[in-house]
Amino acid sequence: KCTEDDDKFEQGKVSRYRNIELSPASGVLNYGQGLLEGIKAYRKEDGRILLFRPDQNALRMKVGAERMCMPCPSVDQFVDAVKQTVLANRRWVPPSGKGSLYIRPLLIGSGAILGLAPSPEYTFFVYASPVANYFKEGLAPLNLYVEEEFFRSSRGGTGSVKTISNYAPVMKALGRAKSRGFSDVLYLDSVNKKYLEEASACNIFIVKGNVISTPPTNGTILAGVTRRSIVEIARDLGYQVEERSIAVDELSDADEVFCTGTAVGVAPVGSVTYQDRRIEFRTGGGCVCSGLYSNLVGIQRGLIEDKKGWTIEI
Ligand code: PMP
Repeated sequence: KCTEDDDKFEQGKVSRYRNIELSPASGVLNYGQGLLEGIKAYRKEDGRILLFRPDQNALRMKVGAERMCMPCPSVDQFVDAVKQTVLANRRWVPPSGKGSLYIRPLLIGSGAILGLAPSPEYTFFVYASPVANYFKEGLAPLNLYVEEEFFRSSRGGTGSVKTISNYAPVMKALGRAKSRGFSDVLYLDSVNKKYLEEASACNIFIVKGNVISTPPTNGTILAGVTRRSIVEIARDLGYQVEERSIAVDELSDADEVFCTGTAVGVAPVGSVTYQDRRIEFRTGGGCVCSGLYSNLVGIQRGLIEDKKGWTIEI
């Protein structure tokens, strides 16, 4: 917990999963003052547990807290809380290759505030749950639907931070796309209505020859930890990586499209449907995406050497 004035979070403790008590007038319930994060812990073949770049999630929460007028735990406090949560739940981390432990840090305005203003008190907590691998066998291609009615984010809004209030408004678009048989929604920018932004919980990349492009993180998309890691891995593998605005029309010319995120890792996109036109892309074993996937997942699961020092063993 932390009060508005002292800006320092007191040391918490690990307790059993339970409901929390919250004032009906809390900042999070009334004004959406809340931030979330998502991190995965994997079990290595030798039984030890690896966390992937939790410091990056801590830093992202700091940026988000600034935008949402909230104090934030230090990077050390954040990472320590994540480690303690994993340690307390180590028996729930699935065996190597069989899934992961999903960790969800949350920072909420827990104090009562009736008028529109920052909450007088904040609570940071972490919970965890085992999850299965996103893909049961191999990489199944995603089929995306380009949304033209709803926008995920607008300039000057909160699209670049992981606030809880970004997610409820897109459930309608996601539900509609799913009911039509698509795996996810691909959002466009709200000003020109033609530049690719991201999917509901993952970033997007397109491949043309040796060039891999992804939209820039300049205020409306989330700076994914996986996105940044893939940009680095791709450059190391000799690809030219460009962070630039990508018009939706460029999809017709792309060889491959893929998504990145903590949940999916790196996921090939088989098709994108835009204005009733279905554009198909190369997928499968030999594609760029599958090479990037095995490099990233190899590091995350301790199957290949982590030369970058991205993983923390606990
Ligand atoms: N965009 C959005 C909107 C997301 O919710 C997520 C998931 N955190 C991502 C992208 C991917 O980010 P990361 O690679 O850090 O999971």
